[in-house]
Amino acid sequence: NSTREKRKLVQIYHPDLDVNTVERLSLINDLKQAIPAGELELHFQPKMCLKTKTVTHAEALVRWQHPTLGMVPPDNFIHIAEQTGQIKALTRWVFITALDQYNAWQEQGIDLNIAINVSAENLKENDFHHFICQSIMAAKVPAEKITLEVTESSVVEDPEAAIKLLAEFKDYGMKISIDDYGTGYSSLAQLKQLPVHELKIDKSFIQHLEHDEDDQIIVRSTIELAHNMGLHVVAEGIEDEFALNWLAAHGCELAQGYYISKPKPAMELTPWLLAQLTIQDVEEKV
Ligand code: C2E
Ligand code: MG
Ligand code: MG
Ligand code: MG
Repeated sequence: NSTREKRKLVQIYHPDLDVNTVERLSLINDLKQAIPAGELELHFQPKMCLKTKTVTHAEALVRWQHPTLGMVPPDNFIHIAEQTGQIKALTRWVFITALDQYNAWQEQGIDLNIAINVSAENLKENDFHHFICQSIMAAKVPAEKITLEVTESSVVEDPEAAIKLLAEFKDYGMKISIDDYGTGYSSLAQLKQLPVHELKIDKSFIQHLEHDEDDQIIVRSTIELAHNMGLHVVAEGIEDEFALNWLAAHGCELAQGYYISKPKPAMELTPWLLAQLTIQDVEEKV
């Protein structure tokens, strides 16, 4: 499967091959300015409940509007932020901005659970738990309306510390999701110990579902495994109707992907979300 080969290849890093070193150095420098200069932007991507076909969740995804380079995607700067310690400020900005948007949507009658991506580096901050709980309380957002997405690989890095911290978040009422599930080589023993609510299957297993029987087998067994462990399943990377219907038929709870909606600024998403609410109203009355 070509997607999975590609995923392995990007991990083989050699400086001689890095033609973007100059651009990278300038990104390291410019990123320091990005938050104070207001260059970060938050987009949101809906997740659809496959049972009711309604949008019940949205994931916050950061973008960087660079003054000369234009839109820099997160895959090009999150790892820099992690290496330079700027991920601490970045995650906090994302978190506060997402809580504000939660409240803004509530005022417009849009009730969504908001997911925020948390980096492995954040899990090492000694006041991370305090910050998260404090800001949720200050924004008066119910904890169960927030999902923390933690990648499988960041949990594998230091399982004991991750388990302890995630358990505290879970006790506080937040939902915990294991992002990019299937790419991080966690063992079943680790998975069993993780205080989480859901597995989010990586898009590389979902994008080619229609024509890749191996992916179908993997996804079917993952859904079964998750359900046997009392966990919900989210699939990301739904790009066609086949994947959407297949996942619904196989009991997957939530779906996210370009076929449903691309990540968009809240301003652009709101009319679409309101239209979905109207359609539901009409359907309920018929
Ligand atoms: P992720 O958390 O796994 O997010 C899903 C990524 O898949 C997003 O890319 C989303 O736009 C993309 N995606 C969703 N549906 C589809 C689809 O149907 N097809 C395809 N081809 N792609 C789809 P994005 O926004 O570029 O983000 C990439 C990664 O950057 C995220 O992966 C996450 O690991 C990281 N990231 C984004 N925002 C944040 C953030 O605020 N904090 C942290 N720590 N990481 C972030
Ligand atoms: Mg995510
Ligand atoms: Mg993911
Ligand atoms: Mg990912």
